[in-house]
Amino acid sequence: MTGPLGEPWSSGSTRTADGSLSVAGVDVHELAARFGTPAYVLDEADLRARARGFRSAFERAFAALGCEVDVYYAGKAFLSRAVARWVHEEGLRVDVATGGELAVALAAGVPGEHLGMHGNNKSDEEIAAALDAGVGRLVADSLVEIDRLAAAAAARGLVAPVMVRVTTGVHAGGHEYISTAHEDQKFGLSMAAGPGGDSPAMTALLAVLDRPSLRLLGIHSHIGSQILDPTGFEVAARRVLELRAELAARAGVLVEEVDLGGGYGIAYLPGEEPMDTDEVADGVAAAVAAAARDTRTALPRFSVEPGRAIVGPAGLTLYTVGTVKPVRLDDGRVRTYVSVDGGMSDNIRPALYGARYHAEVVGRSSGAEPVLARVVGKHCESGDIVVHEVQLPGDVHAGDLLAVPATGAYGRSMASTYNLVPRPPVVGVRDGAARVLLRRETVADLLALDEG
Ligand SMILES: *Cc1c(COP(=O)(O)O)cnc(C)c1O
Repeated sequence: MTGPLGEPWSSGSTRTADGSLSVAGVDVHELAARFGTPAYVLDEADLRARARGFRSAFERAFAALGCEVDVYYAGKAFLSRAVARWVHEEGLRVDVATGGELAVALAAGVPGEHLGMHGNNKSDEEIAAALDAGVGRLVADSLVEIDRLAAAAAARGLVAPVMVRVTTGVHAGGHEYISTAHEDQKFGLSMAAGPGGDSPAMTALLAVLDRPSLRLLGIHSHIGSQILDPTGFEVAARRVLELRAELAARAGVLVEEVDLGGGYGIAYLPGEEPMDTDEVADGVAAAVAAAARDTRTALPRFSVEPGRAIVGPAGLTLYTVGTVKPVRLDDGRVRTYVSVDGGMSDNIRPALYGARYHAEVVGRSSGAEPVLARVVGKHCESGDIVVHEVQLPGDVHAGDLLAVPATGAYGRSMASTYNLVPRPPVVGVRDGAARVLLRRETVADLLALDEG
């Protein structure tokens, strides 16, 4: 088969006539020869198109209501200076959650007012850095943090823009969502009423209004990850709008902004359907409009924070196959263990969440009968699995190039140096040209941290 591969591969991924894979016009043989393996490969045009697509879908859906929309790219999915610039050039803002992410976004030239600062345990240094950078919003995650933010802003003679992160009771991910009143998680302030009457969320909102060095910008909610059904977003939107109306009745202040977080699901396997951005934008806009109508409140400025859906499908990981070992299973089947030159250090998601991925031999075509294979890494753990189950050509052998698509999000950003394996580079490809965005870590880098 030649031509574009389609999801879960990036839009620039094409099978060439000789059976190789080209990404944005660059052949994987060239990538492997120039940059080595394993390597993360990021298709710039694909990433930019997804950023634009998100913005236009939400702008279109909310323009029909007369609402303004901001799309924040969730930098934790993957952040480098180039990626921060790309998404900012496409009209997105950037969400950061630590001092490190903040520093990279600022170094990329993203202005402070286009940054949002998250985190359930921000340090004094992180709060100071965010205030000094003039970030457009600080998302408060606890009552004690509201006091710390107020004190830090007051010490600088500033009025800091703050959102309060609430938990709506909606948890979504995969195909289903659950909707409960009480929360057993570290993030946010619950909307469920406490023993004293007020919910922790309401108490926090009133506390921000009470602090002269803070300006209450709005309410924030993030319901989960890899969500494929828009219903959870619609339920959360209604609950947040109701809380906003309740606060207006209570304190006479209708906060300007509502943020519904990220979590938009992508395709990881062939045949999987990613979340349809237009459909979710329309569904959420309708839910926001209905809730505003029912609560007789004006519509808010609205924002969302996709991470995975922007960068995930734009990335793939390129490996070289090493050891190939057939293992006979109890039921008589044979599973072919295909070891690659990376593993759980460059993609922890299968070990961490049981995440499923796809893989293909990409350097050549093969007429061999497919075999049941498991792609594993080189680490000293039997759980070091990259792809649990995939059909690979029966003649897969050492030296083959193997690619795993949809690794752009939470691959490099969650990478470790386990077994002291240096972390792979991130190579950007566009219009037939490749360049290093993050260089490969070296053993010298690892030794440089070691004080003896
Ligand atoms: C993780 C996270 C996101 C991004 O989630 P994705 O699943 O990558 O879209 C957005 N907002 C907040 C607050 C998050 O914690």
